[in-house]
Amino acid sequence: MLEMSLNKLLLLALVIGGVWYYSKIKRRMAAREKRAGADAGARAQRPSAIEAEEMAQCPRCGTYIPAERPKACGRADCPYGARVQEASSTRR
Ligand SMILES: [Zn+2]
Repeated sequence: MLEMSLNKLLLLALVIGGVWYYSKIKRRMAAREKRAGADAGARAQRPSAIEAEEMAQCPRCGTYIPAERPKACGRADCPYGARVQEASSTRR
């Protein structure tokens, strides 16, 4: 008798927990959809104000530098420094 009611209580708790969890997931999904819709609307209203710049990674030091106007990082074996030096040496 006691065991039976315990089982029923456990089942009831499981059902309540399942419903609560389901509603929680549903609410989270709805909020995410709402946020995505708001983002899309904001994006459609104004064009991207930030323009991206192409970056290149230095194979020696690993720092990212603008690919359009590469600058040497200061290391002797930096290929961008070498390129700048070559350019200045060929210019004379
Ligand atoms: Zn470098």
